[in-house]
Amino acid sequence: MYDETIELLIDGVFCQGSDGRSQPLINPASEEVLGQVPYASTADLDRALEASAKGFAVWKAMTTHARSAIMMRAAQLMDDRKETIARILTLENGKPLGEAVIEVAFAAEVTRFYAEEGKRAYGRIIPARTPGVRQMVVKEPVGPVLGFAAWNFPASNIIRKISGALGAGCSIIMKPAEETPGTAVALARCFQEAGLPAGVLAVVFGEAAAISSHLIASPIPKKVTLTGSTAVGKLLQRQAADTLKRCTMELGGHSPVIVHADADLDQAMDTLVAAKFRNAGQVCTSPTRFFIHESRYEAFVEGFVARARTIRLGNGLDPETRMGPMIAKRRLDVMEAMVADALDRGATLSLGGRRAGNRGFFFEPTVLSDMPQDARIMSEEPFGPIAPISSFAAFDEVVERANALPYGLASFVFTRSMTLAAKTEEALNAGLVGVNHTVISTPDTPFGGVNESGYGSESGSEGLEAFLRTKLVSEYGV
Ligand code: NAD
Repeated sequence: MYDETIELLIDGVFCQGSDGRSQPLINPASEEVLGQVPYASTADLDRALEASAKGFAVWKAMTTHARSAIMMRAAQLMDDRKETIARILTLENGKPLGEAVIEVAFAAEVTRFYAEEGKRAYGRIIPARTPGVRQMVVKEPVGPVLGFAAWNFPASNIIRKISGALGAGCSIIMKPAEETPGTAVALARCFQEAGLPAGVLAVVFGEAAAISSHLIASPIPKKVTLTGSTAVGKLLQRQAADTLKRCTMELGGHSPVIVHADADLDQAMDTLVAAKFRNAGQVCTSPTRFFIHESRYEAFVEGFVARARTIRLGNGLDPETRMGPMIAKRRLDVMEAMVADALDRGATLSLGGRRAGNRGFFFEPTVLSDMPQDARIMSEEPFGPIAPISSFAAFDEVVERANALPYGLASFVFTRSMTLAAKTEEALNAGLVGVNHTVISTPDTPFGGVNESGYGSESGSEGLEAFLRTKLVSEYGV
């Protein structure tokens, strides 16, 4: 049923590691144990570090065209195995199988994008002030990379790091989330079978804090890239400071949605219900603070609740399922506490609000209306299937409320007016703005936040740039 053996990948070899400890892998829909996640020992990590230095030298010396060919083959294997990998992903993460299939196809596309983009790591020639001098700006891979990623997109979160690094000519040691290891191993097999040289990619699991502090302390890796919470981002950035590694930080968010008075309400509600409850709300760009113009507020709440009520919860392998479980029991406790706090402060419970069933980590699609601004959920990232809705009267007021948090990842605007759209886009403190839709993540476009949502981009040419360093070569008399 669960068609993957969870292993570490070190120096081109899949293995169980020498630590001896492991942790159970739980299916969040059934609470069944799917397997054991082996821990890497310190000696395993040191082997991975040495191998990544050697792998980097080999990979960097290859032409971008030769690297691209291997990456293209890996992407094809991902496509060929899409159904199998998606099944593994659904079993460990819980999301509906259809979403998992799309995610694995996305991983293949991201790999193809970087396989091509790596060929465009162009430098430039700068005219010199001195006769006989030629000044060249050369782009080089930054070196071995360390990647850490969350479980909510078990394929996308890691592939942006792996394929970005490989496309630029870097090696990478990836520590995926222990909640979703099988997807990472299945994708790593695609790279190895496509002919990736030993050491270029490593996959390790274990006690997150111990692994990250050991790997980051090593002088071998030159870059850290994290997709995770703001708290862990701050911690890893502090650790990276000791060896002055550069970082890319894809961190938490708390996305405002502004629905202006002139919006196409049906289109907004259809789009936002789908976006809110996708992956049970466990999405860094999930709409989380709904600000609806007061003239449309009641109609919006009514229509949103009517749509959300039809969402069918269940096991992601069931084709009827539209929303799966949350990743773990601890998340249900957080949802319950957030709902209780909002109700204590005067919010109205318009839908849901409770754990669903007693097996698996399901939480009902939940709508809280008349949201008081001081409720905990209005400042703390919910990362779950709760939509807190409030109304606004004036443009300046809603912009101030939307920009009130330290976060700055995604934001959304719904309006029929291009002028109002442009004015809102400009005013929002966010790395991503979706106008009249929520599709803000593609292989070709830069993805990333500002302020405490992090910095740096993944995907697009900016995503490649993140794994490159700049060298000036100034020649005289050659
Ligand atoms: P997390 O920060 O706890 O873990 C992320 C990764 O970091 C995991 O692999 C974890 O094992 C690892 N890690 C390394 N050192 C660690 C340490 N000392 N302590 C704990 N973990 C350590 O994140 P999470 O709660 O698993 O994931 C949810 C968060 O990720 C949310 O805040 C969400 O918004 C964010 N996220 C951001 C993006 C983005 O692109 N901006 C995308 C997906 C998720």
